[in-house]
Amino acid sequence: MERGNVLYGKIVREKLINEIREEVKNLRKQGKSPLLMTLEVGDNPASKVYLSSQRRTAEEVGINYESIQLSSETTQERLLNVIRDINQDPYINGLILHMPLPGHINAKIAQWSIDKKKDVEGVTPSNLGQLFLGMPGLIPCTAQSIVALIKSTGVDLKGKEITVIGHSDIVGKPVAMLLMQQEATVTVCQYETFKRGMLEKHVRNAEILVVAAGYPGLVKGEWIKEGAIVIDAGITAVEDKIVGDVDFKEARKRAAYITPVPGGVGILTTAYLMKNTVEALKWQLAAD
Ligand code: NAD
Repeated sequence: MERGNVLYGKIVREKLINEIREEVKNLRKQGKSPLLMTLEVGDNPASKVYLSSQRRTAEEVGINYESIQLSSETTQERLLNVIRDINQDPYINGLILHMPLPGHINAKIAQWSIDKKKDVEGVTPSNLGQLFLGMPGLIPCTAQSIVALIKSTGVDLKGKEITVIGHSDIVGKPVAMLLMQQEATVTVCQYETFKRGMLEKHVRNAEILVVAAGYPGLVKGEWIKEGAIVIDAGITAVEDKIVGDVDFKEARKRAAYITPVPGGVGILTTAYLMKNTVEALKWQLAAD
């Protein structure tokens, strides 16, 4: 018994990519070419996969993509200088600072030194604060991907019971903020919820469930409410496979919609990075 609709990211992605491509074309007609820069400190084999996927997506929409790789011995002071130069360079519209950074660098200080108008990952206090207040700004990409997938089902979010598992600054908290702005009833769970054995209760109550914990098999299929929308943002490499946090096969028997892993949230994230680059350029062009 298969049941629920599989909510593939590719349908939402295709529409988004076409919209971004059009926007880039229009910007180019005005003599503006968006440029996205990535900055890496040291050589992290895992980030190579992200870099090549970002480069491909940038090419797909016509955004220029460049990367800088600094030595793993780069000091914090030098890194902050490089970020300051990028902040001041009018030809660079978006900056991604690849994580993880070497242990001797304070990652928060480095991220928070990015100009808010170039902060395409939406990680600075300024952009997160604007999100908190419901003001326009650059919003973390995974959170946008999750909300787009939920909205693609046509569901009315007003007053809906939504459970979010995971409360990180980059996924759980921003997605909860976006859903609250849609006037949903949002419950945010975290590791301590799990430790107290309260996760099942909150999952059973959820008409919409968002999971971003990075804990394979965390959500049991039988916990899912009949007819729920299930968004699994978890990504964990297990042997040679990528798996999510929800028991997909069992959950699908009860859910109305469920995202696959891979092929769900993950494939949308780089597209939103490009959207944020376009938004960043438009923000830079606008008078404050
Ligand atoms: P994180 O480690 O910063 O935060 C994990 C969150 O999950 C924390 O709030 C923690 O309390 C909670 N958590 C962990 N184990 C739990 C458990 N057993 N029960 C309940 N809560 C638990 O991680 P993150 O950066 O937010 O990423 C979360 C997951 O989402 C990871 O699998 C990551 O790979 C994935 N992710 C996916 C994308 C994407 O594009 N699809 C982007 C970013 C992160």
